[in-house]
Amino acid sequence: MILLLYMDIYKKLALLNFPKGEYVIVGGSMTAHGIREAHDLDILVTPNLYKTLLNSGEYRQCTCEQCMQTSRLMLKSDGVDILPNFMFGNYIGDTKSLIENADIIDDYPFIKLEEFAKFKKELGKPKDLEDILLIENYLKNN
Ligand SMILES: [Zn+2]
Repeated sequence: MILLLYMDIYKKLALLNFPKGEYVIVGGSMTAHGIREAHDLDILVTPNLYKTLLNSGEYRQCTCEQCMQTSRLMLKSDGVDILPNFMFGNYIGDTKSLIENADIIDDYPFIKLEEFAKFKKELGKPKDLEDILLIENYLKNN
């Protein structure tokens, strides 16, 4: 099941064909490691790529309640969320270093699980704490 969903992610990434060094996959990294499934892709991109995507007309600003209430910038297309920054609470991700230190899996850059866990800790919902446990167990065994 997880493998199958990973194939979906892989197909989508091949279609997106974003330039190397300009992005890192955030949501989806647990799936890439075979930890659990994901329903869509969240991709953190450089300001440069964000601008390009915004101007391409193929994405629209997300108008969900959370984005509207917090003025969060996020571009959406079919099953893909594009983020210009990655931060919540006390976690402030540095895009450049997250890209540089990404785990390369099948040629695609995924955020380091340790970083993802730090972010999830700030989100702090039961689902996030569950994910942190899954990540910690995974890292212990791999
Ligand atoms: Zn939104």
